[in-house]
Amino acid sequence: MMDIKEMEKAEGGFLFSEISELGHEQVVFCHDEPTGLKAIIGIHNTVLGPALGGTRMWNYESEQEAFTDVLRLSRGMTYKAAITGLNLGGGKAVIIGDATKMKTEAFLRRFGKFVENLNGKYITAEDVNMKTRDMEYIAMETKHVTGLPESRGGGGDPSPVTAYGVYMGMKATAKKVFGKDSLTGKKVAVQGVGQVGMYLVEHLTKENAEVYITDISEEKLKMVSDKFGAKVVGMEEIFDLDMDIYAPCALGATLNDKNIGRLKCQMVAGAANNQLANEVKHGHMLMDKGIAYAPDFLINAGGLINVYEEFLGNYNRESAYRQAENIYSTCLNILNVAESKKIPSQEAAIHLAEKRIADIGKVKLPR
Ligand code: NAD
Repeated sequence: MMDIKEMEKAEGGFLFSEISELGHEQVVFCHDEPTGLKAIIGIHNTVLGPALGGTRMWNYESEQEAFTDVLRLSRGMTYKAAITGLNLGGGKAVIIGDATKMKTEAFLRRFGKFVENLNGKYITAEDVNMKTRDMEYIAMETKHVTGLPESRGGGGDPSPVTAYGVYMGMKATAKKVFGKDSLTGKKVAVQGVGQVGMYLVEHLTKENAEVYITDISEEKLKMVSDKFGAKVVGMEEIFDLDMDIYAPCALGATLNDKNIGRLKCQMVAGAANNQLANEVKHGHMLMDKGIAYAPDFLINAGGLINVYEEFLGNYNRESAYRQAENIYSTCLNILNVAESKKIPSQEAAIHLAEKRIADIGKVKLPR
């Protein structure tokens, strides 16, 4: 027998069934004929504050795919802000199309206008295929934007702060798994040596970890291995490597039915968003296999911390790093709670985030 959500889907009503399933407050469809702009802004939850989250531009295969992506990503931002203790809600935007061809000044400013029309309920920033330069155009039409270049008083590239937070989360997880947080001599496999992965490799090699790297870009692999002495492995080989720590820093959903069975590591800690292909199923699979998992939305929150710091005004990078350091204690706490409740760490992290939203929601009620 079908439940109500399945019936709605069968009748073609997927929009509201997906929205209600993930609990969004508002979803805004933006269309502009002259520039060809097609965007969706997902505002998941604004109990703690305005919904801050980057804009991703992607050549989605279908509008349904873009819609699902913005819903998942914006919900993730709610949890990320809540667990990090920021006074922010969760939101995200996706722009459908080819970023190499469509991003003109008018296109970006038109998008900025749509953001402006939300009166600060949604604050945008950079994400995949959107750079600080694009944010400057968006900022011509709205003040509800962050992630501006340092030359304009912004925080610049958030990746070093993200990498530092991931490193802190990795050390906390190592403390739980190996009894001490030193990564010296640990075999760490970093998948993806882009902006975040590269800075993470730097922290790891400074601590004398044995670092293995993989990437689709030969150029990046050469640069990172030459600079830090990391050993290069194949893109598939990484899943079969005899390693202590797997650090996904490229794509989401690498923790799936196929790969979890192959992993020989004792813990997973990386920067990628949505690492678990299925939050519930694969969280349990890792737990059953005895692999500790540092929740992605918790340990990769450094970037959000950085843009929030900028949004508050008088950007201070030291303060962003100090806050990213707290990821260590939050992560250790989550792993302990997960162990005592015998639940996956991702579930424990979501519970904590939801509890903060519920508690602060009550504080904010009119009396
Ligand atoms: P990036 O694009 O600079 O780096 C990603 C790297 O992964 C690239 O070098 C790319 O060539 C490589 N890659 C792509 N497909 C691959 C594959 N199949 N196997 C191996 N490598 C592959 O991105 P980034 O800014 O470093 O972000 C990395 C991840 O962290 C992303 O999932 C991103 O969403 C997440 N994240 C980034 C930040 C940030 O501050 N940049 C913040 C939070 C989360």
